[in-house]
Amino acid sequence: MTILRGRDQTSPFSASVDVVVIGSGAGGSIVARELARAGRTVMILEEGGYHRPEEYSKLTPSRAMRTLAREAGLGLAVGLGDTPIMNVMAGKCVGGSSVLTGGVCFRIPDDVLHDWSTRLGLDAMTPEALDPHFSEIESDLSVALVPASMRSRSTELFVEGADRLGVTMKSLRRNTSGCKGAARCNFGCPNGAKMSVDVSVLPEARELGTVIVSDALVERIEIAGGVARGVRGRFVDGETGDPKIPFEVRARVVVVACGSLHTPILLRKSGLGTKHVGRHVTLHPAFRVGALFDETVEGWDGAMQSVYSDHYASEGLTLIGIYTAPSVLAAAFPGVGREHRRRVRSMPNLAFFGAMIHDEGGGSVRRWLSREPLVTYRMSERDRRRVWRGIEILGDLAFAAGAREVMLPIFGAEAIKTPSELRAFVASPPSIKKVECMSFHPLGSAKMSATPDGGVVKPTGESWAVANLFVADGSVLPTSIGVNSQLPVMGLARRIAVGIAETFDAHARRAA
Ligand SMILES: Cc1cc2nc3c(=O)[nH]c(=O)nc-3n(C[C@H](O)[C@H](O)[C@H](O)COP(=O)(O)OP(=O)(O)OC[C@H]3O[C@@H](n4cnc5c(N)ncnc54)[C@H](O)[C@@H]3O)c2cc1C
Repeated sequence: MTILRGRDQTSPFSASVDVVVIGSGAGGSIVARELARAGRTVMILEEGGYHRPEEYSKLTPSRAMRTLAREAGLGLAVGLGDTPIMNVMAGKCVGGSSVLTGGVCFRIPDDVLHDWSTRLGLDAMTPEALDPHFSEIESDLSVALVPASMRSRSTELFVEGADRLGVTMKSLRRNTSGCKGAARCNFGCPNGAKMSVDVSVLPEARELGTVIVSDALVERIEIAGGVARGVRGRFVDGETGDPKIPFEVRARVVVVACGSLHTPILLRKSGLGTKHVGRHVTLHPAFRVGALFDETVEGWDGAMQSVYSDHYASEGLTLIGIYTAPSVLAAAFPGVGREHRRRVRSMPNLAFFGAMIHDEGGGSVRRWLSREPLVTYRMSERDRRRVWRGIEILGDLAFAAGAREVMLPIFGAEAIKTPSELRAFVASPPSIKKVECMSFHPLGSAKMSATPDGGVVKPTGESWAVANLFVADGSVLPTSIGVNSQLPVMGLARRIAVGIAETFDAHARRAA
């Protein structure tokens, strides 16, 4: 795939296209391809660098994070009040966060869509209306059930524990083709098997004439007379990320797809300071327990994620199989010195079980001192209860599977050895601030609404405030969805793109 590399540019650059798309991740890539299919001239501007999928296998986990992720994967949400500090991850490369996913694919659950179409008045958000969008993307991305033969032993133990407690586990669907079970999806697939958008969507967009520009940081949307006219920014230095050489792109339609952490930053910098921009952020707080077994588990051998359970969906919890690179696990083990070495040596006997919360939100994103936003999050009382409940369930599953010790996701805590210790822990938990939580799905920072005072964009994705300006990424989701977000983002982005294609002439007239 040919990419115009901003880091190689030595002089200012300008261009004029029908549609400029900012961000090449799950949302932006789909919009670009769809509009290119509709015959429009399209340019994608991506702040991150371009790395050929063959390079991913050569990157150590820490190198991959520094190369493909924002803030080397160490970004966080500051916990306000009784809230844990949370690691929040997002991609920064051609392909965006889709390059870092575990490949898990869910549609937006029907009950969530029912809530959107009834309570929120977003009438078009029904399973039937979104079905064609999801179906096509699923086909393009080779979304399929993970066969039981791909399950790691860690996953099998998760399933065995669940079976013994009458909890139903189901196979996940993932966007892979030829997965070899290397269990390191989060660092870019080393085997080119994950159908992230750099592999599955952008090549077609490129063949249809889309110009993809990497290392291109958009700093401002040009708006005149209430209509978006294009964007300005600077190419960033490949090593330091510092903005250097200026560029400008004139366009009749501007689509912002910078992801939920950055879309509100760009909107605000461009003068769109309405009260909803950067607010209502949901994170799907996620955590895991480690379970030590007498048997050899070697959980790194198999698909990184292959099962889930919606058994506790009514309690706002999704259980999900997980694993990660041993070096990353080792860095997170409790204990120091001899105790830490003992844990590292026990790694072949460890399994990991995960869960995430269908949260109420309480997050916000705003500009501050650096290029990266200040993310804050105030966890609701209900979600705090869900955290403890989730930890209890995962602990129970681990003991039911035969674990000898269970490591709870509590900073500084000793491993527990019996179900009664688990019960005592849950009856008298420590401060929630001690919980080790992560977020891979920041969503909702420029939400869609049925009325101008309820959100940032219309159900079509167009800004309520500025004509010809669209948002098509995770920030438009009006609530948390309780399941992994790449396919939901892509489905909504496709719907928005089809709408732009249908109304393009009207936008062009407005822009004239
Ligand atoms: C480690 C990890 C694992 C995940 N696993 C899964 C999974 O298994 N299944 C699942 O469904 N979801 C998963 N997700 C979530 C999923 O990847 C995201 O929900 C989805 O990619 C969001 O799409 P997006 O278009 O909103 O943003 P992104 O895909 O993040 O794309 C935004 C792009 O915009 C670029 N950008 C930002 N600002 C600017 C600017 N000013 N100028 C130019 N470019 C800019 C960014 O660099 C980025 O490349 C995971 C995410 C992470 C981080």
